Amino acid sequence: MLKNKTAVVTGSTSGIGLAIARALAADGANIMINGFGDKAAIEAERAGIEKDFGVKAAYSAADMTRPADIAAMIADAEKTFGSVDVLVNNAGIQFVAPVEEFPVEKWDQIIAINLSAAFLAIRAAVPGMKQRKWGRIVSTASAHSLVASPFKVAYVAAKHGIAGITKTVALEVATHGITVNCISPGYVWTPLVEKQIPDTMKARNLTKEQVINDVLLAAQPTKQFVTPDQVAALAVYLCSDAASQITGTNISMDGGWTAQ
Ligand code: NAD
Repeated sequence: MLKNKTAVVTGSTSGIGLAIARALAADGANIMINGFGDKAAIEAERAGIEKDFGVKAAYSAADMTRPADIAAMIADAEKTFGSVDVLVNNAGIQFVAPVEEFPVEKWDQIIAINLSAAFLAIRAAVPGMKQRKWGRIVSTASAHSLVASPFKVAYVAAKHGIAGITKTVALEVATHGITVNCISPGYVWTPLVEKQIPDTMKARNLTKEQVINDVLLAAQPTKQFVTPDQVAALAVYLCSDAASQITGTNISMDGGWTAQ
């Protein structure tokens, strides 16, 4: 379906971004992955995408806190593959602290990576999409784009911002064959989440089931994690022609969290 198209997926060296990159490759797109991590592991992911799906894959080391890097990443993908047809804004970090103690530099970093990077990448990618009269922009927002949790002021502000960018740009590009949407997962089962379990079991003297149900999934009525592959499947759907009339939306995938 995405054969001869190119997707740039930010923050795709692990977790949800990697699952989205692989799913778009499985659908035929050439891929530019991006993110931090061990050099050899990143090269293994890049080569694995080429081998598993018969597409071309490149890696950009662009740091999402640096505007010049972001513009260069889009230009580099256009030069390498000829176009950027799909842009997935997925890179994100978290920091948890009460507002009066929240470090200003953490606020700046989260706003830069989780919010401004999406604006900058969209800004750079839209001209080419307009020229080709086709584009798909998908951002990984969060249940925190709709509701808040305490101690996550920067993350919640940034994710609400992603929902705002999504609506605004969707309206601007609506007649150009470009759709703009965001996906709002609840808790997703990533290595990051899995690693928290033993420590929380010890710290609170709880069983694994209690940590999962009463701590991690306290807000998630299904008491099940979303999987990265489920988020990726929705991203692929949003890139399909069947989804050409879905634009400006914020689609929840949160086991019922925000229905409450
Ligand atoms: P992750 O930590 O596995 O992946 C984050 C990715 O972003 C990594 O590839 C990392 O290298 C990259 N990254 C971090 N800082 C960067 C920077 N300055 N420049 C470039 N890349 C950078 O986390 P994840 O859970 O897969 O999260 C991916 C997205 O999904 C984030 O936007 C996150 O907010 C969102 N999300 C996650 C969950 C969850 O429960 N895991 C839930 C809702 C939304």
